[in-house]
Amino acid sequence: MSAVPRPSGPFVPAGSVRIFDTTLRDGEQAPGAGLTATEKLEVARQLVRLKVDVIEAGFPAASPGDFEAVRRIAQETKGGIAVAALARCRDGDPQRAIEAIGIAERPHLHVFIATSDIHLKHKLRVDRETALAEAVKWVRYGREQLGRDAEIEFSAEDASRTDLDYLLQIYEAVVEAGASTVNIPDTVGYAIPSEFGALVGKVVSLVGDQATVSVHCHNDLGLATANTLAAVQAGARQVEVTINGLGERAGNASLEEVVMALRTRPTQFPQLGSHVQTEQITAASRLVSYLTGFAVQPNKAIVGGNAFAHESGIHQDGMLKNPLTYEIMTPQSVGLQGSQLTIGKLSGRRGLQGKLKELGYDVEGDRLEVIYRQAIALADAKKEVTDADLVALVEQRTAEVPASIELLGWSVTSSHGGQATGTVSVSVVGDVRSTESTGNGPVNALFAAVDAAVEPVLGWHPVLTEYEIRAVSAGEDAQGQVLVRCRRSSDQGPGALVVSGHGLSTNIIEASLEGYLVALNKLHGAEIPLIAGAFVASETAENLP
Ligand SMILES: [Zn+2]
Repeated sequence: MSAVPRPSGPFVPAGSVRIFDTTLRDGEQAPGAGLTATEKLEVARQLVRLKVDVIEAGFPAASPGDFEAVRRIAQETKGGIAVAALARCRDGDPQRAIEAIGIAERPHLHVFIATSDIHLKHKLRVDRETALAEAVKWVRYGREQLGRDAEIEFSAEDASRTDLDYLLQIYEAVVEAGASTVNIPDTVGYAIPSEFGALVGKVVSLVGDQATVSVHCHNDLGLATANTLAAVQAGARQVEVTINGLGERAGNASLEEVVMALRTRPTQFPQLGSHVQTEQITAASRLVSYLTGFAVQPNKAIVGGNAFAHESGIHQDGMLKNPLTYEIMTPQSVGLQGSQLTIGKLSGRRGLQGKLKELGYDVEGDRLEVIYRQAIALADAKKEVTDADLVALVEQRTAEVPASIELLGWSVTSSHGGQATGTVSVSVVGDVRSTESTGNGPVNALFAAVDAAVEPVLGWHPVLTEYEIRAVSAGEDAQGQVLVRCRRSSDQGPGALVVSGHGLSTNIIEASLEGYLVALNKLHGAEIPLIAGAFVASETAENLP
């Protein structure tokens, strides 16, 4: 057998913890959090602005759509940020992952196999020796294919419930075979910080400076961040985290909590910072929440709406005298501007651009022009345009899809106790159609009219699976933001594609129709949606680390 080319350390520069973001892989596996390839790219760009060290872009063997998204992120991501792809230790998976990340400036292959007896026996139906041999085989393969300088990471799925001697044996073997990072996933969120720290310490002593020790903690007991920090104190130098703690079941350790703990308590983590631009955290949180449709709870640490709000009189008094009385970090440090001031009529494109930059968005060119015109129109319709309004406008322009189906006009009549009647005029792939329909409310009637207009041309109509409306800011003239989720009427069962669409207007009926049309255009096949539900329902219906 040929000698395995050894990577040359150190793998993580002294004085830092490597931030491995898996929002686009583990986060996207959260049921209903499916993202299209364009949306994934948008999140990846924000992760670049956030300056994470590694972006885990997906699981290329899961679907052609996921493969394509990983390939595009690998192609676009520069500036020393690595792009990782996940693969099972199974013929076909690592090859597909390498194909997707091979073009990356810094490819990072992540192979995994379950190691706990319960997973080996009931899921993989193989013995320990076979699992170990497979792990070694695919780590060696990855190292040979990607060469000396690539990052090859091995994860022992369900490590925290794996027999310790066997776990250490497998880590030793994969490092020998060329792994430069060994990951210890607490796949089911079972570990307690003291015990997890002790486990990490044993693995750190075992691999020494031959490999970086990584952790991947789930939040089933609400301990993901605590376990991750205990691991760092025990010598882990890579942490796998997600924006907003998104992820399967109760989610993963949240990036913002781990990063801000390292930053706020430096004496507890001597010489262990991250390179994350924390001022980009709020923008990242909002983007991920917006695109996945997963709201952030108001009391969520760091990024919740109330995380920096001080309501009680005693606290407010203290805050006014000195913010340090009740504030351990500043809102500015996470990119939350203290001001919620109104801007009234805007002071030109440059003024708007500067304001958006303050809010964490780099917008220029055509996109700036469109947002500028919308903001001016909004300033005419509404007494005051707030920061929240501007953020909503930027988000609305994010990850747009080409519109083959356009709404040309609508009207609706609705009264107390009666049915609503809606009329729409819609251009369906160039074919202009006007239809009328009734429903038990104005939105219902108009959606039915849209369905009647598109069905004869497309052969299907959207089926609404979820509808949400919220006010962007306070006041009677607030903009309404609508989120719809839809599937095709022709596409049923657990694997059906479900896409989201957002609408934004001071008129909630207009916002509802806008969101419906966005979802309709996505379904029309502008691109391949990458849906977590579809993915879980396929042959890969197993827990990933
Ligand atoms: Zn996971």
